[in-house]
Amino acid sequence: MKLPDDRQLEHIATPAYYYDTVLLRATLQAVVEAAAVDPRYRVHYAIKANPRSRLLEIIKGYRLGADCVSGNEVKAALAAEFTPKKIFFAGVGKTDDDILTGLRAGIGCFNVESEQELIVIDRLARQENLIAEIALRVNPEIDAHTHRYITTGLSENKFGILLSQLDRIVDLALSLKSCRLIGLHFHIGSQIRELDCFKLLCDRINDLTAHFGSKGIHFSSINVGGGLGINYDDPLGEPIPPFAEYFKVFHNNLRLSSDQTLHFELGRSIVGQCGALISKVLYIKEGDTRRFAIIDAGMTDLIRPALYQATHSIVALGKHPGAPIRKYDIVGPVCESSDVFATGVPMPELQRGDYVAILSAGAYGEAMAMRYNLRDLPGAFLSE
Ligand SMILES: *Cc1c(COP(=O)(O)O)cnc(C)c1O
Repeated sequence: MKLPDDRQLEHIATPAYYYDTVLLRATLQAVVEAAAVDPRYRVHYAIKANPRSRLLEIIKGYRLGADCVSGNEVKAALAAEFTPKKIFFAGVGKTDDDILTGLRAGIGCFNVESEQELIVIDRLARQENLIAEIALRVNPEIDAHTHRYITTGLSENKFGILLSQLDRIVDLALSLKSCRLIGLHFHIGSQIRELDCFKLLCDRINDLTAHFGSKGIHFSSINVGGGLGINYDDPLGEPIPPFAEYFKVFHNNLRLSSDQTLHFELGRSIVGQCGALISKVLYIKEGDTRRFAIIDAGMTDLIRPALYQATHSIVALGKHPGAPIRKYDIVGPVCESSDVFATGVPMPELQRGDYVAILSAGAYGEAMAMRYNLRDLPGAFLSE
């Protein structure tokens, strides 16, 4: 990404998110080109990664669909003028209001996560005199080898319908009058860098479509969710994730019939690298064994390190290449010991007032910001 220059920095109050829309467009172009490997592939953007409206408009411009996990996200997708039929709605805890929002908008698919939810959607659809298009979210019981807080496809996770219950719930879905079962949905986790995990998912889906096919049940839509990871260690070296390899795993391993569509719901891999959290150094504090750079951004602005033990690379802005290098613990001002962005990182010598950029912060950054300690929410500015 291209980081903001001195002139742009002068006009911003920190902490603030900075989004490089040139990189966002290049990333979207790369996704669209890579997904063209098969005309049956459809890419959706998982709004929860970053629901900023200007970004949604840009993403919609590349004709992606939207993947939503709340009624308000469905409303945000509609406000950004995503085609309703391309809006899909997942989530284990949809309220009646959420479901009605989706039904009345005529969204393309409810990804249903439990038997009881299925019955409620059918009842609400009948009450509205509508037919709900639904897919059943299956818990494929696959380990995505990612942090345990972002793995979703294991039987101990709350997401999806267990394989052992799937036959019964498929039969139930087929018997309902106001639901039309169009497909199966999967999402095994996030920040997945070992693409072999997706191959296991393909094998599981092939088994399931063969199993249901033998019973005369055919799904017109298969949805493999999101989860493609980004390079947090070297974001400037790898600004665009390996989309071509990712789609190739599905192309090489998943059997689709000519009338089936395959849906992808990518969040992090689309917006992750185009955002940085810009912050100012407040104080340098020398400890006995450590040197702290206390910055004005904290876990309330970017919670990933505190929540998932995630690491982000951090760069100093506007420093001369010849500046002496020192090691810092880069910490926020929030009253929690987990409010730490990095420990022992070499940086050009920092002073009060210097700017730093925490990279790879476009996904699950601003979207998760909160007001703990009554802090203000971070600002945001775009490169254009
Ligand atoms: C969060 C989520 C996604 C997006 O995940 P990424 O790892 O950001 O690609 C896709 N589908 C569902 C159902 C999700 O909950």
